[in-house]
Amino acid sequence: MKTNLLDLDASALVEFFAGIGEKPYRARQVLRWVHQAGETDFSQMTDLSRRLREKLSARAVIEVPHSVSAPHGGDGTRKWLLSVGGGNAIETVFIPERTRGTLCISSQAGCALECAFCATGRQGFNRNLTTAEIVGQLWWAVRVLSSEPHKARLGEPDKARPVSNVVMMGMGEPLANFTNVVRAMHIMLDDNAYGLSRRRLTLSTAGIVPAIDRLREECPVALAVSLHAPNDALRDVLVPINRKYPLRQLLAACRRYVDASLGDEMVTSKWQRKGAPRDFVTFEYIMLDGVNDSPLHARELVALTRDVPCKFNLIPFNAFPDSGFARSPDSRIRAFQEVLANAGFVTTVRRTRGGDIDGACGQLAGRVHDRRTRRAGHSTIRVRSAEGRRL
Ligand code: SAH
Repeated sequence: MKTNLLDLDASALVEFFAGIGEKPYRARQVLRWVHQAGETDFSQMTDLSRRLREKLSARAVIEVPHSVSAPHGGDGTRKWLLSVGGGNAIETVFIPERTRGTLCISSQAGCALECAFCATGRQGFNRNLTTAEIVGQLWWAVRVLSSEPHKARLGEPDKARPVSNVVMMGMGEPLANFTNVVRAMHIMLDDNAYGLSRRRLTLSTAGIVPAIDRLREECPVALAVSLHAPNDALRDVLVPINRKYPLRQLLAACRRYVDASLGDEMVTSKWQRKGAPRDFVTFEYIMLDGVNDSPLHARELVALTRDVPCKFNLIPFNAFPDSGFARSPDSRIRAFQEVLANAGFVTTVRRTRGGDIDGACGQLAGRVHDRRTRRAGHSTIRVRSAEGRRL
């Protein structure tokens, strides 16, 4: 079997080249060809000797994902459905703004976490994406967007870099696919590849506590945590992974994460060159009408997060068929925001983008063949806010 070089970060490439009797600097050359020049044909890599190009053709490939469909949103948002074989397809979303272009990347085909309000979770889980499939989404978006300069300009003043930020917030739980996600993020940070800084690369997790600690050690990047509820009773229902890693443990892990990026350790460590990640955690909080959006919930949230340097990002719920939830009215979102702001927390409300192409948070469904034996009764977790049931 040939090795897909898109699966390898710098250190894995050095190892690969050592295995075929080549010098370590070849890794740098190939990273630049593949990720910066977008070249997938070894015969075009003109600064490699003919002998090496032939050797590579015999042992390696550069296999990139291909797009099945690519609708454009009316607000400039782009969504690509990328085939990952076996009838599965994942989604990648590009969100252009005046000063930046953000790419939202998927980490799994489906998701196993079953958060009550998420379309991806409803579809079930098929498998982890490979490193090539994760970083391949960025490879793909950069290629397409740079070939459309007028579109790229809309999103990012610097035409050469249409994608200025990456968020691991697409389909899947990135920390449940730790090794492949971290290897892909190494490539995103690598100056010979995409050269992102640690603050322009954000990973969002539902709260897999041991993996948050590992991320801090192995690849600290900006961290977002899907909090969504101010107490365990409610979070157990909305984000079921909370039953395994309850809020007290989750908040302690967030604290350790921020402390590490503030500490001397970070300033003097090998990470310094890429800058420390942010000195706060972003708590994402979905606004579900009548479920988690009262001023009382907001006050509970203030008390809960007092000891963690953090910002809040309120996410108005994005509907999908049979979700059983409704979005909180704007006035309720504003009142919630005000309680947090008055307590001194920087709180933003996420503007819904890409809603018309089902590209907004929680609407990414791709095409997933569920491979799990579903637990009896799993799909009965429904919180019907319309019935006004308090949780
Ligand atoms: N598994 C990761 C990434 C998920 S998607 C995580 O849980 O953080 C990114 C964000 O969108 C998460 O905060 C997720 O909870 C939220 N989300 C999921 N479904 C949503 C919906 N229908 N409307 C709005 N936000 C949603």
